[in-house]
Amino acid sequence: MARTRIPLIAGNWKMNGLKADALALAQAVAAGVRQGGWKDREVLVCPPATLVMAVAEAVRGSGLLVGGEDCHAKANGAHTGDISAEMLKDAGASHVIVGHSERRSDHGETDAIVRAKAEGAWRAGLLPIVCIGETLAEREAGKTLAVLEAQLKGSVPAGSTAATLVVAYEPVWAIGTGKTPTTPEVAAAHAHIRKVLGELMADAAGVRLLYGGSVKGSNAAELLAVADVDGALVGGAALKADEFLAIAKAA
Ligand code: PEP
Repeated sequence: MARTRIPLIAGNWKMNGLKADALALAQAVAAGVRQGGWKDREVLVCPPATLVMAVAEAVRGSGLLVGGEDCHAKANGAHTGDISAEMLKDAGASHVIVGHSERRSDHGETDAIVRAKAEGAWRAGLLPIVCIGETLAEREAGKTLAVLEAQLKGSVPAGSTAATLVVAYEPVWAIGTGKTPTTPEVAAAHAHIRKVLGELMADAAGVRLLYGGSVKGSNAAELLAVADVDGALVGGAALKADEFLAIAKAA
């Protein structure tokens, strides 16, 4: 039987937040999670690396999960400025986002690099959230499903299981733009992702597939109701506790 897909609402704070404001945001989200007392969904915040430890300590015991926004593939070594998955784990993280489109475009991260980072997450005991998504040019050229398939085949490590992998579908053109695909477009992308995962692993039916790209309180219920959407990866709206909690409530 397929593993139950508990919805995951994940906030990606990106390069935003100094300690005082970030702790206030984390504590407000944690208060909402504690009050929700949810057993049927998971809520995660991914602050910048400098804040992971402080946020993890501030929200401990609330049920709010904490993750990193990126990690290096290796555990340690001569990689100035990089952060390993082990360091994130040590700081209190349980998850890490890998292959976000901003990492792929700003830092030239290839599918092979993303796969190695996901394997690094496993080595450290973190759950990787592997991001994929097409650009506007690729969508307009009718290549969306082919791009997603190639990214999945390149970025998802061999040996992945429903317990060790989360995939986030984030159309690049929908990130931070206020634009979203139509619900049939989201459904088509997620159905294809699950089909391709089925070629890569035995229990693809249990893998959580998050949608990301301009999710907010007002559109969350509609997007989260789409077949094969098992949660959301949220950028801008994750920086406002009320807005992020509204998305979590919609899950
Ligand atoms: C993101 O960067 O992962 C994201 C989905 O951003 P936004 O919600 O702001 O579009």
